[in-house]
Parts: sequence; structure tokens; C-alpha cells
Amino acid sequence: MKRAICLIIVFLLLSGCAAKDTTFNHTFFCMDTMMDFRIWGSDSTDAANEMADMLEAMEEDWSASSDTSLLAALNDGTADLTEEQEALIARVEALSQRTGGAFDPRLYAVTELWGFPTDDFRIPSQEEIDAALLEQRWDLGAALKGYAGERCIQIMEQYDVERALLDLGGNIQTYGSKPDGSPWNIGIRSPFDSGTIGTISITGTMSIVTSGDYQRYFELDGQRYYHILDPKTGRPADSGLSSVTVICEDGLTADVLSTALFVMGLEEGTAFYQESDDFEAVFILTTGEVYATEGLTLTGCTFQVIPHEN
Ligand code: AMP
Ligand code: MG
Repeated sequence: MKRAICLIIVFLLLSGCAAKDTTFNHTFFCMDTMMDFRIWGSDSTDAANEMADMLEAMEEDWSASSDTSLLAALNDGTADLTEEQEALIARVEALSQRTGGAFDPRLYAVTELWGFPTDDFRIPSQEEIDAALLEQRWDLGAALKGYAGERCIQIMEQYDVERALLDLGGNIQTYGSKPDGSPWNIGIRSPFDSGTIGTISITGTMSIVTSGDYQRYFELDGQRYYHILDPKTGRPADSGLSSVTVICEDGLTADVLSTALFVMGLEEGTAFYQESDDFEAVFILTTGEVYATEGLTLTGCTFQVIPHEN
């Protein structure tokens, strides 16, 4: 009898563990970066697998370096786009217009010239840059991971997933809320060392995207040349910023705007924020000063608040 009770207790403990242990961590390489997913819910494994498959297919379709991708066909004018792909391109075009061209999805030839896709870095001549700007070759590198975050949400909605924290290579996508209602605390990386400059509190499903001069760069004669280009010059955007983080419900918009605001700089970026009502942002200057828009809860650092009303 004693043995039977022991067995029942062991069984209850084990089954109790199985029912509760529904967190799934998945770390993998995709889109040229490490992705790290933390998902809570009984379907977390299935959802993670479907998201990983979707991301792989998305990477293949929109590869700027491949001659056989959908993006290559878009450059040739031979792409046969699905409705979803057409909608993505239309949104990208509209966002590019909204940023006054600071986000330009057709800079791949220029990016290639600087050697950023291959790490074969060099400083091109102005003639080379001018010719590459005219090529207008597609590159969704500044937008795709944000869009991927949106698609991940659509997948999780089809499964029994309670909440998730997805790190798509520095693009953070939150999904749902913690059971106790407490916010997600997301660290903003310091551009100057491997630490964080502060923490923002996020409630619910949100996309948090950072563009920074430390993410991909090379140095020559004490000068840093980084991967975010000013479409007007074809050179690294010299805007006085080291990073911009955008917080927005819409993943594609967050990704596009982080790049565009980096190009614009603090002053133009502030005016852009004051004309908009769909995002918040943190600007870190090359001097180390931090500016955060008024709708954010940022802790752990000293910063100046950017008001929404001018
Ligand atoms: P992100 O890290 O999202 O700011 O994206 C940077 C990547 O977008 C670069 O590695 C380039 O592939 C591409 N890119 C660089 N400058 C721009 C720009 N002004 N507009 C759009 N894409 C850009
Ligand atoms: Mg971006």
C-alpha cells in the first residue's frame, strides 16, 4: 500500500511538472544573425518550429545577395509576387515616402560597394558611389526582421501560446503579457560597450528595434565606417547618432523607422516624432547623451525627454 501511494505521488509530481513546463527556448541562426526565442504555452514547440520554417523561407525569398531570389527577380522586373508579397512591397514603398527617402530600400549596390554584405570592406570613390546609387537595387535588410516579427505573431495566434519574447537578432518582439500584469523589461544596448544604457518597460505585444553604428562597421585611420547609409550621399549617415531604438506596435514600421531616424539625426527625428503618433523612440548621441520620447518608461539612465507637442 505504502509503495502504491509513493508511486501515485511520483506520478502526480511528474505529470504536474509536464503540465507546467511549457516554456520553450529556441536559439538558431537565420537572416545572418542569431535568433533567440522564449515562448510560453502548451503549443510553444510547434509554434517555434513553424516560425523558424517561415523565417528560413523569408530569408530565401528576400535575399539581396542571391541571383535566384525573389528580390533578384524584382530587380529584373520579372518577379511574380503573391498578394502578401505585393502588400509588403507596397508598405515598404509607402514607409520610404513617409520618411522622405531617409529609408531607401534600393541601396544594395551602394552597400555592396562598401563591402558590408561580404566583410570585404573598402572606401569607394565618389564616382563609384554615384554609379551605384543609380542602380537602384533592392535591399530589405533594414525592414525584413521587423516584418518577420509581425509574421511570427500571426503564427503564434494560431497556436496555444500565452506569451513570448522573441529576439530576432537585436529586433525584439514581445507577444502577450505576463500573468501578473507586470511589464516586459527590455534593455537598450549601449553603443559604447557591451552593457546596457537603461531599461524600457513594455506592455503587451510590441516591436522594439534598434539601429546602431556598432552593429556592422569597419575602421580605417581612426574613422568608423558603418552600414547605415545616407541615401543622399551614399556614405555612412553622419547624423551625430550612435543608435536609435524605435518602439511600435507594427514591426515593419519599427524596423524602417529605426533606420530612417538614424539617418535623420536628433533634430529632424524629433520633428518627425512630433508629426507622428504611432511610435516612441530612444536616441543615443555619439557624445553619449540620451533622448527619449515622452510616451516611454525608461529607467537606469539620465536622459532628456522629447515632448510630443512642439
Ligand atoms: P538596420 O540595421 O535595420 O538599420 O538596417 C541596416 C541595413 O539596411 C544595412 O545593412 C543595409 O543593408 C540597409 N541600409 C543601409 N542604409 C539604408 C537606408 N538609408 N535605407 C534603407 N536601408 C538601408
Ligand atoms: Mg531597420
